[in-house]
Amino acid sequence: MDVIIQIALFLLTAFNLLITFKEGKKIYNFYKEKYKRRIELKEHILNQKSLLNKTLGNLNLIKLKRPLRAKFTEEEAIHFNGLMDKIKLENTDLYLFIDTLLEFINKEDIRIFINRIDDLVINYLSLKEIKYQNGGYTAGTYNGQENRIKIYFDKNNSVLDHELLHAASSGDKNARVGFSLVFEKAGMFGEGLNEGYTELLNQRIFNHLNSSYPYLTVLAELIENFYENKDDMMKDFFHADLLALISELLKSMSLEEAIDIITSMDLFLYQNEASFMEFVSLRQKIMQIYERRFILDDSKGEKRLVKQLFKKTNNVDKT
Ligand SMILES: [Zn+2]
Repeated sequence: MDVIIQIALFLLTAFNLLITFKEGKKIYNFYKEKYKRRIELKEHILNQKSLLNKTLGNLNLIKLKRPLRAKFTEEEAIHFNGLMDKIKLENTDLYLFIDTLLEFINKEDIRIFINRIDDLVINYLSLKEIKYQNGGYTAGTYNGQENRIKIYFDKNNSVLDHELLHAASSGDKNARVGFSLVFEKAGMFGEGLNEGYTELLNQRIFNHLNSSYPYLTVLAELIENFYENKDDMMKDFFHADLLALISELLKSMSLEEAIDIITSMDLFLYQNEASFMEFVSLRQKIMQIYERRFILDDSKGEKRLVKQLFKKTNNVDKT
């Protein structure tokens, strides 16, 4: 009998060791993958920086003017009112989204979204289908080409409103959504800034609590301070005009600095890529440019503003 127990115990220990070994291997592979992805991402950002400096440098962005947006024609206004009546009956969440958003921006700023609203598809999927990608769970997605939102998990519509903000800020060309842009050989850039600003508006307009992209939200808010008029940043966002944002930044910094900030923000896109030290260093870089621009030649209380900004962003670190 004793022998049987001993054999059983031996088998159990061997089984446990095997499981521990397998788990250890999994953890090792996870970190190896993460490290590899991080190195690749950094290399990609470095390449992108030099390409963007070359191509954007030739574009005299500082002279860019925001185009005037034509007001809604009477016909458009009638169509819009009819559309809102229909949406009110069919999808209360979508209706509330548009109604609340229009307290902050004009209809003209979301014209493309309104024109495409009839073919906007919102799919609610089961929690089982929740996507694990890039080290985190994706609670929702928006595909601009298909004009389709997928929601895997939501709480108080915070994911839905975030995705609807992506839909509302899609440009007329598929290559643009909010502040992200596919730009010639440099490929997609501005995605980090785009997610941060989208989430900032999600919190500000719809009073949702900060849940996703905490670093990026703080960084996007710091960038907002370079705008002479903060509403212009919202306009640039809803018109999917990253180049207009860069031309605004050029009033305060060099093109190289602007590209450096925007491309570096992509490092914080996914949870597993985030590094607190890198966040602090990028935040510091932005604050130094801010100080150089607004404090050295100004004494009208700007110092106080920088202190407030520091205090605010320090508080967010703890959450
Ligand atoms: Zn998003």
